[in-house]
Formats: sequence, structure tokens, C-alpha cells
Amino acid sequence: MNHDIPLILTIVVGLGLAFVLGTIAHRLKAPPLVGYLIAGVLIGPHTPGFVADQDLANQLAELGVILLMFGVGLHFSLKDLLSVKGIAIPGAVVQMAIATALGLGLALWLGWSVEAGFVFGLALSVASTVVLLKALQERRIVDTERGRIAVGWLIVEDLAMVLALVIIPAIGGVIATHGGEEVIGDALVAEPGQSVWVALGLTALKVAGFVAFMLIVGRRVIPWILHYIAHTGSRELFRLAVLAIALGVALGAAQLFDVSLALGAFFAGMILAESALAHRAAEESLPLRDAFAVLFFVSVGMLFDPSTLIENPLPVLGVLFIILFGKSLAAFAIVVLFRYPVGTALVISASLAQIGEFSFILAELGVGLGMLPEEGRDLILAGAILSIVLNPLVFWGVDRLKPRLERQRIFAGAGGAQAETGQLPPQPTPAEREKADDAAIVRASTMTGHTVLVGHGRVGSIVGDALRKAQVPLLVIEDVDRVATDLHNHGVEVLHGNAAAPAVIKAANLGAAHRLIVAIPNAFEASTIVQAGRAANHGLSIVARAHSDAEVEHLRSHGADIVIMAEREVAKGILAEVLPAPAAREV
Ligand code: AMP
Repeated sequence: MNHDIPLILTIVVGLGLAFVLGTIAHRLKAPPLVGYLIAGVLIGPHTPGFVADQDLANQLAELGVILLMFGVGLHFSLKDLLSVKGIAIPGAVVQMAIATALGLGLALWLGWSVEAGFVFGLALSVASTVVLLKALQERRIVDTERGRIAVGWLIVEDLAMVLALVIIPAIGGVIATHGGEEVIGDALVAEPGQSVWVALGLTALKVAGFVAFMLIVGRRVIPWILHYIAHTGSRELFRLAVLAIALGVALGAAQLFDVSLALGAFFAGMILAESALAHRAAEESLPLRDAFAVLFFVSVGMLFDPSTLIENPLPVLGVLFIILFGKSLAAFAIVVLFRYPVGTALVISASLAQIGEFSFILAELGVGLGMLPEEGRDLILAGAILSIVLNPLVFWGVDRLKPRLERQRIFAGAGGAQAETGQLPPQPTPAEREKADDAAIVRASTMTGHTVLVGHGRVGSIVGDALRKAQVPLLVIEDVDRVATDLHNHGVEVLHGNAAAPAVIKAANLGAAHRLIVAIPNAFEASTIVQAGRAANHGLSIVARAHSDAEVEHLRSHGADIVIMAEREVAKGILAEVLPAPAAREV
């Protein structure tokens, strides 16, 4: 076969190798993304063997960023965004300033120029969207107060980056327009002072223009398109419309308004989220997102030259220190100063203790303009890859640190004062909200003789309510954060997580349970849960939900005693309405 197929090769080899190495990483109890990064290093230009197309990989990674931000936008409302502006704006600005200063210090120590130090510091100050969102999603905290602050913080950083990409060339004083062409070179500087302000003003206008356009035009046109497509009755067209809108708005934002692709996608998601119908459909089209997020990590790995670690160990350590400790300590101090609870401050610091795609863009720009030495770019790359690999470890450390810090007297007041100054008295204090967030984390149950109900949606909620009325001791396992927290607040014993995950199902103490009810629609996951239940307890009574005869068979073969086929029960319900009772019962 002699076709020229670099795109297919990049996708297939990237995803395939990431899958294999991710699985190996998982087996070794490391986060899968370590495997994805190593896959990238292996197919990158710095290791022997197959070399994938870096340009294509970067573009595919960018698609991942767009889809991820679109997904986040779907979960965000303008209200959410504005509700965290009080902390997100000063937080991000001060933290970026501190990190930039630290980076500048390191650069001067390395003997670079002040401009180089400025670009270098700025690159170390911005966190990666993908890494942050993945960490929040894995820990299921996107929808919590801390998650919202972290995302708000990220949006501010993103906006700051949009500005930085304008300021840097201007500060370097090296870009001038000559005969319609952009010419880069020292000799062509006209009035750098003026051009900085003009460029900044123009950028601010463009960002404002984009936001206004989305709020005025987008808000009307997008729902109108979706309603129109919904009337065609084609689900395929509807999903396609959602995807086309997400990608189209992102690209339009970047091309017409010079806003980043990610920010454009975020706004597209936020506007779609205003209609309940669109929201659901949009979520269905998101599986694509995960595949492209994997390609993001692969593309980062490809940039990495492992020899930097050996040739430049001290500067690499310095960079890592700034990313892991400098940035986190700054973020921690700011959040605590704003009197948020320690737990919130820790999660935000941990989410920001990494750098990624924005830093690469800045580094490339800096090197391209001759402001940053090549060594600077290599250091930024090394810092990125190491901080991404270490990020799960940072979260682990933060979990260990939290109880200790909470016992310290200086943090005891944090969280309380916020409520006193707030204008809305019925709202819970940050400390109370944090407690509710924590409740959703898996803790092993000590119940015995209980009924375990998996899933609290349309089916499970009816079953659960009736069982509670009948005073049956009940433990619910639910995947969705909001549902789990809500149940917990209503005094129901609940485990938050995917019941198909071994750690979660183990925490349900099935060995001592009386009954297991699996009320979720996905038969693959349901069979895993049924099987785990049967293995834990031979005498357990297991009832499961199915949607086809094949699923009934599948669940029975994995150990379910009774399987209820949903569609059959619906049919029975319909017949009970339309036929005389004896005939309906014959079904
Ligand atoms: P419904 O189809 O409306 O009955 O909703 C099913 C419910 O089960 C939803 O609330 C899901 O969040 C939840 N769910 C689905 N799969 C799992 C799982 N593997 N573990 C825990 N909860 C789940």
C-alpha cells in the first residue's frame, strides 16, 4: 500500500499506542495519561522508529481542547461564571504575576534577557485546560463550588493569554506591517509604545465584540437552528447540528475575533446549555471529546526530548519547582485570603500546578520572535511533561495534607466570614458547601442486611423512594454528583461513583447485604456490577434492569436472579389502559 495517509496514520498510531500504554499504566496503578504521554514520546522525533506528523497531531489535539471546553460550557451558565468572578479574576491575575516574576528570576539567573524572562515566566504561569478539566472530571468536581472557581480561574487565564499573545510581539517591539505583509525584525519598529496600547485596545474590543455577538445574535440564532432541525425528526442531523455549531463557533471566534478556539467553544457550549433539549443532545455527541483529549497528551509527548533531562537537570528542577510549588503556594494563599475553606484552596492549587498547551504556544512565539532562547522552549516542554505526569500525585498529596491543615488554627476561620459578608443569607457558607462536596466521595459503608440500589434516575428514584417509605435499610450508588449530593442532604446513605468500578462496589459491603438492585440502563456496566455482587455474596438477591431480550440473557448469565425488561413493562402498562383487565394480564 503506497497511499500517503499521514492523518490516518497519526490518529491510528496515536490512539492505538496510547490505548496499549494507557492500559499498561493503569495495570501498574499509574494514571493512564502517563501512558498517553509516553506513547507520544515514542512516536515523536526524538526517539527512534516511526515518527508521526507533529503538525497534524497538534491540530488534532486542538480539536480535543475545543470539545473539552465546549463540554465545560454545557455545564456552565453565565450566572455560574459571574458568581466566581470575585475570586477568579484577582486570583488568576495575582497568581500569574507571581509565577511570571518567579520565571523571570530563574531566567535572569540563567543569564537570559529580561524579555526572555518575561515570556518564560508567563509561559510557566498558565495552566493547561485539558489537564485541569480532566483532573476535575476524574474527581467529579466540575459541578461543585471549587470546580466552578477553578474553571472561572482558567477562563481568566485564557483571556489573559489572548492579551499576552498581542502584547508580547509588541513589547518585543519587533512586529511591523510592511506593504501588507507582517515583517519581523528589529529595524522595523516604529512606535512600540503606541502599538502596545493600540493592539491591546483592539484586542479588548474584539473580545468584547465576540461576547456581545454571542449574547445578542448567538443566543437567538443557535436555539432557532436547533428547533428547526428538531422538527426534521432526524436525530443524526440534530447531533450533527450540535457538533457543527460547537466547532463553527470556535473557529469563527478564532478567525473573526482573534479569540482562542477554546474560549469560542466554551461560549458555544454555554449558549447551547440554555435549552434543556439541546443540552441532552449535546452531551450525547461528546464521546468524541475523550478520543481527542487523548491525542492532546500524545501530541505533548511528541514534543518532548528526553535528553533535556540529562543535559539540563538543575534548570529543569527550577522550572518544576516554580510550577509545582511557586504557583500552588500563590494560588493557595490567595484563595485562603479570600476566606474560602482550606479544601477549596488546596484543590485549586493542585489543579493549577501544571502547564500545557498555552505555554507551548507562548514558547513557540517567543522563540519565533527571537525573544526566548531555544533552551527556554526545551525547559518549558520538560516542565510541562513532568508537571502533567506529576499532577495526579499532587492531588494525592493534597488529599493527605487537607486534614492536617484543617486542624491548624490559622485556617480555622476560613470559610466562616464569607457568609457574614454575603448578601444572600439562605445560601450555604463555603464551608457547608465543601462539606456537601466531600459527602460525595466514596466512603466504605458499614451497613448490614441492607438493600443496595445502583442508579437513582427515572427508575431508581421511584424504587428508592418506595423502599425508604417502607423503611427498608437502603444504600444508593449514584454516578452523578448532583444527584448523590442531593440524596446525601436528604439523609440517604449514598456512595458517589461508578458502581462498575471495583473500589466503589467494594465500599457497598455487598457481602453483608440482603439485596442488590441494579437500576441503570447500560447492560455492560450492569453485568459487571451483578457479577461483582454475586462474587461477594452467594445468597444475595439480585434484581436488574434490561432493555432487550439479549440483555436479559446477558444479565442472568452473570448472576442476576430477576431481570425486568423495561419495554415489556411499558407495554403492559399501556395494555392495562386500553384493554379490559383480564386480557391485559395475559401478556
Ligand atoms: P435512568 O435511566 O433515568 O433510570 O437513570 C439511570 C441513573 O443511573 C442515572 O442517574 C445515572 O447517573 C445512574 N448510573 C448509570 N450508570 C451508573 C453506574 N455505573 N454507577 C452508578 N450510577 C449509575
